Amino acid sequence: MTERLVVIGGDAAGMTAAARARRRRAPDDLEIVAFERGPYTSYSACGIPYFVGDLVADIDELVARTPEEHRRNGIDVRIEHEVVGIDVDARRVLVRDVSAAGGEERDEPFDQLVVATGAVPFRPEVPGIDADGIFGVQTLADGVAVRRAIDERAPDRAVIVGGGYVGLEMAEALVRRGLEVALIDLTEQPMAATLDADMGALVAKALRAVGVSLHMGEPVDGFDTDGGAVRAVRTARRMLPADVVVLGTGVRPETRLAKEAGIAIGDTGGIVTDSRMETSVDGVWAAGDCVETVDRVTGRQGVVPLGTHANKQGRVVGINATGGDVRFPGVIGTAASKICAYEVARTGVTEREAARAGIDVVAATIEATSRAGYFPGAEPITVKVVAERPTGRIVGAQIVGEEGAGKRIDVLATAIWNRMHVDEVASLDLSYAPPFAPVWDPVLVAARKAANML
Ligand SMILES: Cc1cc2nc3c(=O)[nH]c(=O)nc-3n(C[C@H](O)[C@H](O)[C@H](O)COP(=O)(O)OP(=O)(O)OC[C@H]3O[C@@H](n4cnc5c(N)ncnc54)[C@H](O)[C@@H]3O)c2cc1C
Repeated sequence: MTERLVVIGGDAAGMTAAARARRRRAPDDLEIVAFERGPYTSYSACGIPYFVGDLVADIDELVARTPEEHRRNGIDVRIEHEVVGIDVDARRVLVRDVSAAGGEERDEPFDQLVVATGAVPFRPEVPGIDADGIFGVQTLADGVAVRRAIDERAPDRAVIVGGGYVGLEMAEALVRRGLEVALIDLTEQPMAATLDADMGALVAKALRAVGVSLHMGEPVDGFDTDGGAVRAVRTARRMLPADVVVLGTGVRPETRLAKEAGIAIGDTGGIVTDSRMETSVDGVWAAGDCVETVDRVTGRQGVVPLGTHANKQGRVVGINATGGDVRFPGVIGTAASKICAYEVARTGVTEREAARAGIDVVAATIEATSRAGYFPGAEPITVKVVAERPTGRIVGAQIVGEEGAGKRIDVLATAIWNRMHVDEVASLDLSYAPPFAPVWDPVLVAARKAANML
């Protein structure tokens, strides 16, 4: 008899799972139906800042695979269909047609279910939050709305609320579009959740260098409006005029359906899965921003909403839900971002995270150049390495610099993943030629300094 695999959520995690399952089982053996409440499938939210900044001309370029392409591949994609309930005992989902002509609800049976509902953006509950001109950036439709506002209204001033990587990338986009940009955050430094204070200070410097004014340690009290449109952002200390406001205030896992269905949710707020990505209910799988996952450095569960994990977890689900047996090994918190010429990257734990996890560490920070000092285009780069004491195991790294700085983090991520010691990292056979690095790559220098401190 033909089995039925139902997927909730038509983006990175859900459609990777569906596509992988399709490659393993033929349509007469496995029917695959994917429900997506929006109009797009397999899209890159990561590309939104570059679409708004006009580095990408057309929103369709951010769609890796359209619903039609998925259908041609034997996946029955139903866009503008929202799953509104899961009955794990009866093994069916309740689906609502949310298209303009829709409204109908119907039950859809499943043998295997994939929950890939992603994340919900956090919106501060302050007066004026629903005013015209205040945008979140989570879906492609959000990206289209922000870009349209810039193209059509030609605004002069933008305020970004939230100094995480999404806020920073949107700041770059709006600077590129010629707006005067201010960034506010309730923490004392940009990227406070992901970088130590010393490295965050470099990011603050980079933002100021491209003309972004920073107002740190200032929670938003509300938005002033005029005729329903935003005019200013208020904090306890100031009023910042704004024609456009972009919220980069973080996300939380979208777990409402799973929770209502009795699927276990962890203390982190994400859906609990085992390493095969199966939830607490047999034959119900979950992947992507909606799940919690283990941090390989601290051994603790956490929610790390990144596309890189969503794709890998989706692949694991697609294989296991079709009878395979593979594992998702966890994460180490590797991430990179860019603000104009400046690249920012991190992996493992920061000093602050190490302290929270009870890991005793030393931290070594060095300044070097991205290329041989005499070579045209050599730019400053700062590398910080965090090592466990007394073992010398490398547990974290952060890098801020210009071209060529960010991707250096991957060497350190590989070292952390493989539980290398800093003295081993300091001896790695990394490439050298003047256009790429000084003879001692900054990564080696930072690891050597950490080793000397131990
Ligand atoms: C501006 C921006 C920049 C980013 N940059 C990066 C980056 O550089 N690197 C990186 O690794 N990650 C980045 N990310 C994060 C990355 O986009 C996400 O981690 C990834 O999209 C998660 O994939 P997902 O499939 O789990 O969830 P989502 O992409 O959120 O997809 C979930 C889908 O499920 C649908 N859905 C939810 N509930 C239902 C329901 N009940 N019924 C039907 N459909 C439903 C939603 O409409 C959505 O399409 C960025 C995100 C943003 C917003």
